[in-house]
Amino acid sequence: MPNDSPAASKVPESLIDAIKQVVGPKGFIDDPSAMDAYMKDWRGLFHGRSPLVARPASTEETAEVVRLCAEAKVAMVPQAANTGLAGGSVPDESGSQIVVNVSRMNRILGIDPANMTMTVQAGCVLAAVQQAAIDADRLFPLSLAAEGSCQIGGNLSSNAGGNNTVRYGNTRDLVLGLEVVLPDGRIWNGLRSLRKDNAGYDMKHLFIGAEGTLGVITAAVLKLYPSPRSREVAMAAIPDAATALVLLDRLRALAGEFITAFEYMPRIGVEFVTRHVPDASDPFAEPHPGYVLMELTSADPDAPLRDKLETALGSAFEEGLLFDAVLAESEAQAENLWRLREEMSESQKPEGASIKNDITVPVSRMAEFIETCGARVEAAVDGIRVCAFGHVGDGNVHFNLSQPVGMDPQAFLARWDEVAGIVNDAVAEMDGSFAAEHGVGRMRRGYLAKYRGGVELDMMRAIKGALDPDGLMNPGKVL
Ligand SMILES: Cc1cc2nc3c(=O)[nH]c(=O)nc-3n(C[C@H](O)[C@H](O)[C@H](O)COP(=O)(O)OP(=O)(O)OC[C@H]3O[C@@H](n4cnc5c(N)ncnc54)[C@H](O)[C@@H]3O)c2cc1C
Repeated sequence: MPNDSPAASKVPESLIDAIKQVVGPKGFIDDPSAMDAYMKDWRGLFHGRSPLVARPASTEETAEVVRLCAEAKVAMVPQAANTGLAGGSVPDESGSQIVVNVSRMNRILGIDPANMTMTVQAGCVLAAVQQAAIDADRLFPLSLAAEGSCQIGGNLSSNAGGNNTVRYGNTRDLVLGLEVVLPDGRIWNGLRSLRKDNAGYDMKHLFIGAEGTLGVITAAVLKLYPSPRSREVAMAAIPDAATALVLLDRLRALAGEFITAFEYMPRIGVEFVTRHVPDASDPFAEPHPGYVLMELTSADPDAPLRDKLETALGSAFEEGLLFDAVLAESEAQAENLWRLREEMSESQKPEGASIKNDITVPVSRMAEFIETCGARVEAAVDGIRVCAFGHVGDGNVHFNLSQPVGMDPQAFLARWDEVAGIVNDAVAEMDGSFAAEHGVGRMRRGYLAKYRGGVELDMMRAIKGALDPDGLMNPGKVL
């Protein structure tokens, strides 16, 4: 794993004082013990240092903080809820970077039900945005396991995917307008709520997925959808990932417009969850090699979702494609099935060290990837436990590798580069991407040069150079 530890350097006291003046007493944290949570990433892989976490309360305060840092040539790290999984949201170890945390900018600025849009500040927690949409009888469809904590600014900057991408796309697809503080402190107000706007380059897409390297997002106009009024959740027990894709094809033919989620889980993942999560249970009497969790929703309360699911699963069963299937009979049962999927990543922790890869290949090559790459890592590390699960309907799995039972965790993690290299080479062979939805951050920075390089990397560097010539906005991340 890339790990750079620049020499310690100091941020001028005069800058720190000036920022404190701008944001006021509630707008900063400088007590080292209180700062700790802002210094380390969710997985605990990176632990940085900073003299100050600035927590501006408005776009104007953010702009002034950024302007002061730019003038003093001091680097900044934009941060939202710090749940990102690529090490992008924390400062490095030098102590020379100011954290600009957007959490205090957490107001819903407006909802336009007729335009199907909502304007929000960057620090709004995703679950609060979802709830505000529900209160207006609308849906904001972005949904991921971190939704109770993660914030829109972070979702936008990492172009988060999540469980509903198969139907609604990634965060990028859910945005109409943005407001951004540029690395020199200027404010770009692109908070337009238009569905057609071909007036020049579409600037918002540069900042979405830029992981804080091009500016600080302060607000966004989000797309809303009709509220779902009917929902069906089912889980099928299947022999392998290839069957999951056949099932997806069948379901698409019958109920394509209703498929909201289509998630694959291997047996080992279900075992991890049922072993470590007290209220999680396997819905089947027998163990099976793999599972698919699927959800259909519709704005029509009378949509024949159950009929369609039963037809698809029934015919697949008759053809010998699946071993068994359950359709949730209640909300509680549906939540129980979803818990197996949602807890899959966290329940790997008690199993020891894990090497996590967030990869994507064309949907048509997903099963081939899981099989081929699984065999390669098993050949490389005796006893490695492959837990490849997730958004198979989008061609994206979390190809997570748990350490062999009994192995020293540090000895396993010491092989990170070698093992991740095997995975990323297989991804490249299948025309995929080593960063599907979690981003590059600090964790995968080295891979861009190796797997993208050339003209594409040149274009990225040119954009970075044009917007942030001094390299002050989240340095050491992505590029
Ligand atoms: C349990 C769990 C489940 C997850 N599931 C998924 C999933 O299914 N799909 C998925 O895509 N991701 C998933 N994630 C990771 C996901 O990327 C984050 O949870 C979320 O999108 C990041 O939001 P955040 O507010 O925590 O951002 P942070 O972690 O604070 O930041 C993420 C990146 O964005 C930058 N950034 C943050 N705010 C701003 C801003 N206002 N302006 C500019 N840059 C900014 C940071 O510098 C960093 O590079 C999961 C994470 C966890 C912990």
